[in-house]
Amino acid sequence: DFDTSVEANSRFIKHTTSLIDKQIELKVDSVLALMTIDEKIGQLVQYSGKWNATGPSTSERDQYKYNKLKKGEVGSMLNVASVASIRETQRIVMENSRLKIPLIFAYDVIHGYKTIFPIPLGESASWDLDIIKKSAAISAKEASASGLNWTFAPMIDVSRDARWGRIMEGSGEDTYLTTQIGVARIKGFQGDDLSATHTIAACAKHFAGYGFGEAGRDYNTVNIGEYELHNSILPPFKAAAEAGVATFMNAFNDIDGIPATGHRHLQRDLLKNEWNWPGLMVSDWGSIGEMIAHGYAKDLKHASEIAINAGSDMDMESYAYEASLKTLIEDGKVSIDVINDAVRRVLRIKFQLGLFDDPYKYCDTEREKTEIYSKENLEIARDVAKKSIVLLKNDNQVLPLSKDIKSIAVIGPLADDKNAPLGNWRAEGDYNSAVSLLEGVKHAVSKSTTIHYEKGIELTVPTVKPGENQFLIPLEFNTTDRSGIKKAVEAAKKAEVVLLAIGEDAYQTGEGRSQVDIGFKGLQLELLEAIQKVNKNIIIVLMNGRPMDLTRASEVAPTILECWHLGSESGNAIADVVFGDYNPSGKLPVSFPHHVGQEPLYYNQKNTGRPHGSKQVTYSAYRDAPRFALYPFGHGLSYTTFKYDNLTLDKTEIKTTDSINVSVSITNAGDTDGEEVVQLYIRDLIGSLVRPIKELKGFKKLMIKAGETKTVTFKINAETLQFYTANKKWEVEPGAFEVWVGGSSVAELKQSFSVVE
Ligand code: BGC
Repeated sequence: DFDTSVEANSRFIKHTTSLIDKQIELKVDSVLALMTIDEKIGQLVQYSGKWNATGPSTSERDQYKYNKLKKGEVGSMLNVASVASIRETQRIVMENSRLKIPLIFAYDVIHGYKTIFPIPLGESASWDLDIIKKSAAISAKEASASGLNWTFAPMIDVSRDARWGRIMEGSGEDTYLTTQIGVARIKGFQGDDLSATHTIAACAKHFAGYGFGEAGRDYNTVNIGEYELHNSILPPFKAAAEAGVATFMNAFNDIDGIPATGHRHLQRDLLKNEWNWPGLMVSDWGSIGEMIAHGYAKDLKHASEIAINAGSDMDMESYAYEASLKTLIEDGKVSIDVINDAVRRVLRIKFQLGLFDDPYKYCDTEREKTEIYSKENLEIARDVAKKSIVLLKNDNQVLPLSKDIKSIAVIGPLADDKNAPLGNWRAEGDYNSAVSLLEGVKHAVSKSTTIHYEKGIELTVPTVKPGENQFLIPLEFNTTDRSGIKKAVEAAKKAEVVLLAIGEDAYQTGEGRSQVDIGFKGLQLELLEAIQKVNKNIIIVLMNGRPMDLTRASEVAPTILECWHLGSESGNAIADVVFGDYNPSGKLPVSFPHHVGQEPLYYNQKNTGRPHGSKQVTYSAYRDAPRFALYPFGHGLSYTTFKYDNLTLDKTEIKTTDSINVSVSITNAGDTDGEEVVQLYIRDLIGSLVRPIKELKGFKKLMIKAGETKTVTFKINAETLQFYTANKKWEVEPGAFEVWVGGSSVAELKQSFSVVE
C-alpha cells in the first residue's frame, strides 16, 4: 500500500533530498579530482566588474581580471549585472578555460533589484513575514532575470545604535525579530529549490558582530563578551544556517581583538563544525587585506594564511589568495585539505544552482524584458510599502484625510523627491524613479481638491556634478538658503492640512554613513516651526533610514507618519495610508530616542544593581533626559483602537520540557477594520547570568474587524525560555518568569509562571 500520510511524504522528501545531495557531492569530488592547484585557488577568488556587454575594459586591472577569467582562475564575479554582460563574462570562461567551471554572479540585491521595496529596516516594521518573503522572492525573480545567481542579503546584524548608517539595512534592535525576518528573506530569495531559474542564493551577513561597532561608527571595533555574542548576535545566524542559507559573509570589524575575517572560532569551529553548515563563506570586500591595517597580519600573505585557516573560503577583492595561497601550501602553512574544503563549498553551490548543467541558464533576454519592473511587481512593492508605514502619533485624529478635502498643502524638501524614497543600496533602481509623495497625493485626491505644493527649502546643497557618482560624494546640508520658506508658509496658510515631507536623504544612511546627529539636518526644523505658526494641522511624513531624534517635531506636530525610504511606490503607498485606503499597521523594529545621547538605546536592556520602584526605572539614568525611548520598540498606532484583555496561562508551573499556552483577547474597539501586531514578551527573573528586563519571544499579525474580538494563543516552551547560560550551553533554567502580551514593548498585561526541574 502506498502511504500518503504527511509523515511519509516528509520522510520521502528527506530521503530523496539526501540522495540528490549525495549526487552533488560525487560530482563535486569528480571535478575536484581534475583540478590543478592554480585552478583550485582560482575558485576562491571573487572580482568586481562593473562592465557591460563588451566585457572588461582595456584598463590594466580589467585586463588582469580578463586573463584570470580566461585561465579559469576566478570563481565568482560581483557587480556584473545584465544578461548581456553576464553572458559575455561567462563566455570568456567557458570558451577559454581548461575545465570550464562556470562563474557564479553576485550582486547586492538588498531591497529589490529594479523594482525597489522599502529599505530592510522599513520593511521590518511590517512585522509581516509573508510579505517580507514575497518581496525577497520578487527581488530574486528580477535579479535572476538579469542573469544573477547570488545576492549579498539578508543583513541580519542586530543593531541598537541609530548613529550607525547601516541600521537601515537590517531588522533593528531585536534578536528574535531579526531572526524571524532573516529566515523569511532567505526563504524568499532561495525558494524551495535553488536550481529553479527564479531563485538565487542568499547570504547571511555580516558574521559577526558588525552591527555592534562601538559608538555606531562603521567598521568599528566590537567590544562585547562571549555571552552577549551568543545571546544577542548569533541566533539569527544559527537560524539562517538551519534554514539552509547557501552562503555567509564575514565582517570588517574585530570582536574583542580578533578580526571577524580571521576568526577561526566563529567561522570554522562554530559555524562549519559545530553547526555543521555546508555552505560558502565569502569575505567582505577587501576584508582579508584589511587585517593588515587592523595590525593583525603583517602582509597579504600572512592575512591569507589567517583567513583561509579561519574558514574564509572566498576572497572578495583583496587579491590575497591568488598571490599567496600556493606558497603557503608549499610552506606547509596551509594544508591542501583546507583548500579542498573551501573549493568544495564553491563547487557545491554551483551544482546546486544548476550552473554546471547550463552556465547560461539565467541568461534569458526574454525574461529580462518581461519580468523586471513589471506592473505586478510594482503592485506588490506598493503593498509592502503601505504595510511598512508606522503611525507614530495622531493627536486629534488628524489622519486619515478625506479624498474630498478642499485644500491640502504638500510641503518640504522631500515632498516631490523621487530619489530619497529609493534609499541606499537600491541595486539597479533608477536614480529618479520612485513615485514622489506629491505624485501619490495627486493620484489619490478628488478633482475638486486644491493642492498647494512648495518645496520650502533644499535639504542638501548640490555637490554632484554631471557624470559623478552621487553615491560617493559626501552630502552637504543647506543651512543658509531660506528663500523658499515664505512661499511654503503662504501655501500652508491656504490649506486645511499640511503634509510636510522631511527627514533624511537617501545617502544619509547606508555603508560608511554614520552620524553623530540623528536630528533633522539643515533648515528642516525651522521650516516646521514657521509652518506651525500659521497651520496647526501638520502631518509630518517622515522619510529616513534610521531612528531619528523626533523630540522637537513631536512637540510641534500633532501627527507623525514614519515612512522610511519606501521604494518605487513610495508616494502611492503613503497616499493609501493618508487617505484611509489602508489602515496603518506597522510597528517600530527599533527604539526612537529622546536624544542621540541615549544611544545605543534598546528596550531589552539589563537592569543595573540600582533599580527603583516597580517600573524598572533605574538610577543609571540621565539627569537631563529620560532613560527610555520616546517611541518604543514595537510601537505603532492604528486608525482604530485595540483593547487587550484576559491574559491567561493554561498552567502556572511547568517542567523544563513542557509548554504553556498563553492566550489573550483583543477587541477592535473603533469603527475601522485594522491589523494588529500582537506581541509576546517574557522575563526570566533570576539567571546564572543577568537577564534582560523584557524580551520579545513571539508575535502574530492579524486582521480584526471593527467591533470584533479575537483570541490569540502563543506557546511558551523550552525554545522560548532557553538562553546561553553560564554553563556555555543553551538551556532553560528553572525559576520564576513573567510574561506580557500587548501592542508594543510597553505591553501592560502581565502574568507569572515558574519552571521547575
Ligand atoms: C559591504 C557588503 C557588500 C560588499 C559588496 C561591502 O563593502 O560591507 O555588505 O555586500 O561590499 O558590495
